Amino acid sequence: MEKNLAQFSETYSQGLWIASFIFLAVALLRLFSVLKTKSSRHWIHPAKTGWFVIAIKLLFFVGLLAFLADIPIWFFTVAQFRPIAPKLPYWFFIFVMVYITVQEMILSLTASQALVDGFVKRMVFFLISVFCSFSFILAAFIVPTTYTYPAKEECVMLNLPVKGTWLAMHAGKEKWVNYHSNYAPQRFAIDMVKLNENGQFFNNNGEDSSDFISFGDSVFAPCQAVVIKMVDGFPTQKIYAGEDSINPAGNYISLKLSDNQFLFLAHLKANSFAVKMGDTLRSGQFIAFSGNSGNSSFPHLHMHLQNKSTINDTLSTGLPFRFNSIERKRIFSWEKLENTWLIRNDQFRN
Ligand SMILES: [Zn+2]
Repeated sequence: MEKNLAQFSETYSQGLWIASFIFLAVALLRLFSVLKTKSSRHWIHPAKTGWFVIAIKLLFFVGLLAFLADIPIWFFTVAQFRPIAPKLPYWFFIFVMVYITVQEMILSLTASQALVDGFVKRMVFFLISVFCSFSFILAAFIVPTTYTYPAKEECVMLNLPVKGTWLAMHAGKEKWVNYHSNYAPQRFAIDMVKLNENGQFFNNNGEDSSDFISFGDSVFAPCQAVVIKMVDGFPTQKIYAGEDSINPAGNYISLKLSDNQFLFLAHLKANSFAVKMGDTLRSGQFIAFSGNSGNSSFPHLHMHLQNKSTINDTLSTGLPFRFNSIERKRIFSWEKLENTWLIRNDQFRN
């Protein structure tokens, strides 16, 4: 079955619009029903509501506050689709989620007479509230702590293999931010895609590999290393329609850093190698152009490090690596960092 980028982008966009309007409609219905019973509703206050209701309400308030802080996590998991989808539905969805959270936070500081009166209703509210509050708090505070990475001492230090502003599509240690982690040799692999000045992956309509900013962009040696293998001649794939699962790496290069450290740069453009077998490359030396060969949905650069010389040798183990000195934008702002690592949706540049 043929998928294409325009269809994917449109489906993603429609899904976000539909979800946004459903959430917004539910939130507005709730607001109107609360306003209708406004006279029997009061601010939580000991004399009227009792400590029990106040405690539950405050817990819910804290949970929602955590959820508001949690929206960046949603950002983490979904933002990778943003560069290939229209921006408007994406920002509208964020706006709706923030609106709902703020509305519920304000409402959580009031209680209806019915809630205060009936024991059964109070207990049902209690259970739902505690469940929601703890879910929000867990998501906000526990999930980010799973974003860890091996310490500097356990990592190989590299420079970026690219120039300009790029986005990490799949990167990090955890499986849910890096699908490569399912394969031992690629445990810490990164798939990176170059962005244009609008933060998009491509110009024009993205139907052709050459529309992509990554396509034909220069790839450099990320450290001093010896060229031990080059595979060339695989064609450029169609966008979202030509993944080659038999030759997943497509055109690639293997670099030997030491006896048990081997780095791979994959999906390169055919006939673009500027180095030879046995060359000792200096860090920053031009190697080839990035492309869309092998098992690749659209132009991007794949990089990973393992302890054996044959790519994806099932007996080999993936090795963690960090970058010497880069600028990284994790959520809102650019930071200049030393010895840092990347995770899905990080933007980075030299
Ligand atoms: Zn990859």
